[in-house]
Amino acid sequence: MRDEKNKHFLDTPIEYLKGVGPKRAELLRAELDIGCFGDLLMFYPFRYIDRSRFYTIREVQNDMPYVQIRGRISDVCLHGKYRTTRMTATLSDHTGKMELVWFRGFKWLKDQFKPGVEYIVFGKPVFFGNRYNIAHPEVEAVSQEVISQSAGLQPVYNSTEKLKSKGLDSRGIAKLLRTLFPRAKGHIHETLPAHILEPLKLLPREETMLHVHFPADAMMMKKARARLKFEELFYLQLNLLRHRLLRIEKTSGHIFPAIGDLFNGFYHDRLSFELTAAQKRVLKEIRNDTLSGKQMNRLLQGDVGSGKTVVAVMSMLMAIDNGFQASLMAPTEILAFQHFESVSNMLNGLGISVGLLTGSTRPAERRKMLEDLEEGHLHILIGTHALIEDVVQFNRLGMVVIDEQHRFGVAQRARLWSKSTVPPHVLVMTATPIPRTLAMTLYGDLDVSVIDELPPGRKPIKTFHQFDRHRLKVFGFMRKQIKEGRQIYVVYPLIQESEKLDLKDLTDGYESICREFPLPEYAVSIVHGKMKPADKDFEMQRFVKGQTQIMVATTVIEVGIDVPNASVMVIESAERFGLSQLHQLRGRVGRGADQSYCILMSKDDLSADARKRMEVMASTNDGFRIAETDLQLRGPGDIQGTQQSGILDLKIADLTQDERILKFAREQAKSLLGDDPGIEKQENKVIRKQLHTLYRDRLFWSRIS
Ligand code: ADP
Ligand code: MG
Repeated sequence: MRDEKNKHFLDTPIEYLKGVGPKRAELLRAELDIGCFGDLLMFYPFRYIDRSRFYTIREVQNDMPYVQIRGRISDVCLHGKYRTTRMTATLSDHTGKMELVWFRGFKWLKDQFKPGVEYIVFGKPVFFGNRYNIAHPEVEAVSQEVISQSAGLQPVYNSTEKLKSKGLDSRGIAKLLRTLFPRAKGHIHETLPAHILEPLKLLPREETMLHVHFPADAMMMKKARARLKFEELFYLQLNLLRHRLLRIEKTSGHIFPAIGDLFNGFYHDRLSFELTAAQKRVLKEIRNDTLSGKQMNRLLQGDVGSGKTVVAVMSMLMAIDNGFQASLMAPTEILAFQHFESVSNMLNGLGISVGLLTGSTRPAERRKMLEDLEEGHLHILIGTHALIEDVVQFNRLGMVVIDEQHRFGVAQRARLWSKSTVPPHVLVMTATPIPRTLAMTLYGDLDVSVIDELPPGRKPIKTFHQFDRHRLKVFGFMRKQIKEGRQIYVVYPLIQESEKLDLKDLTDGYESICREFPLPEYAVSIVHGKMKPADKDFEMQRFVKGQTQIMVATTVIEVGIDVPNASVMVIESAERFGLSQLHQLRGRVGRGADQSYCILMSKDDLSADARKRMEVMASTNDGFRIAETDLQLRGPGDIQGTQQSGILDLKIADLTQDERILKFAREQAKSLLGDDPGIEKQENKVIRKQLHTLYRDRLFWSRIS
């Protein structure tokens, strides 16, 4: 990439722009990632202020947004004992007078206003003290240049404190762009071909750039933004779909011709329940993939409790039946351990050897396991990312299941692949339902299977929101449930396992619960991340075996643990959890035949967002609805795990709002690839070039996602 720098005008380092220089350049790089002219050009405004019209003072009303007024300024007056608290001035036009006021930064302003000069004043009017005021208005003397720049929609750019202190606030950035534009003329090359631009009536790129920064009017601004959003999503989808195509074409996969004794034995003799139709459908899809001769890359989406584990186990049996090994990768040690326990349990007596490899596996044990693995004696290896270390060599890895929970990056998945020449089939399981828009961008190149039904007989979990001051009522409810033979989780937030305060909340809570539910009538377990694995396991087992009625825990139990008799989930400080986490936690109950409950405890004064989260949780058990709300409330960047994916580095498209454009862009990308799979046609040369520009650094990542 570097060697191509400087070849193109837009690659010119930003310090060479008039008005920047080395100091500001350094800041622009550090704060906004703007390193060259092109970066500045693609630093889009996040909103616009309407300066398309002037108001008269008489027209000013309460609750108006920003307005601009032309008038003269008089009566500049300093207030306060030292004349430093505030400065006021009178603005007047032919319709009336109003007050301008400054509370800081007016020292150098006070002698600026000249009588008889006409000014443009811009700001938000507020009715106060019996008349209209504008605090800290932008004021400029009327000139031809100012008039032309103030007209229309004014861009507002993100800036930072550091940049502002160097004069690069939103206006400062706009000024740089104004300097850049005349010079960039003729250098802004088209990045979409005519056969896409024309039928869709998209603006040409150079015009787009001009109108996104300095729109002539609202219409042009919308057109410019629509084009950029489309373009951004189009290339994103094109890249994903192209790699999917490449993968399907070029990557061969192991063929599992036989449905063998293990699979059949398990299915007929071991399963204590009938598979749901959804589980059967997904297994069929996996079966077809493993017969195709192409590598499977499948995302298995299913709400908590929908029965993904059985599907995973049966997929691994397909591999083992055909002489391959299988591997199951989990995001945390606890979850890996639980998978190990339940998989060992399910397969017990079938003559399959299952190993567990995590960061805390003893060296001797580890050595033995790695040997067995390499010689093919170990059929299933379960673990955390310790599995992707280079020393882990499989004999014949045929199937990898990744229980992802959004936590594995694409890069980590990649390393598993490099472990054999023909890559294993990959099944990525995710329990957090991902909104469609996000799935399309995050996993756009995977095939998707969905388990969209829960095993029969599940009663919907009843969810209530309670304030902390009603704790006694909640204790009473817990007592009643325990009397009926149920078990209860009480979960505390632990954002960072190292946070002492959180731990104190947990231990305080544990003590108060022990007081409220004393021995010998009751027994309480506690589990948190600071405990030794052996202790954790001991406490966990006591709860699993029903020796304790209450499990006080941090979010370590968020994933995996399966105790059908547990029917109440109390979530402390629920306002501190995100929606998807709350939903995950709630999924720990409702697995048996009994009515289950989830109680969200919170403080009294909740933010609007937190209140909304409580409401949504109480109103639905539908993971997809919850995920959609989550996306709306938080935006995709905050959804767990998406940050590291890099894929969501969207400059202008907004996944919460642009679903329609996204779908459309995906369709366009699909039809383009249908027509020209290798993107080789002359008419698509532009696309080929742009793909290269955008993704040359990430080719590797894309190939393996
Ligand atoms: P998740 O999708 O959250 O991983 P699990 O695989 O842990 O769900 O399954 C949740 C519970 O449902 C387990 O106790 C499992 O044994 C049970 N289960 C799975 N499939 C079925 C089914 N078809 N019928 C009845 N119970 C099932
Ligand atoms: Mg699970």
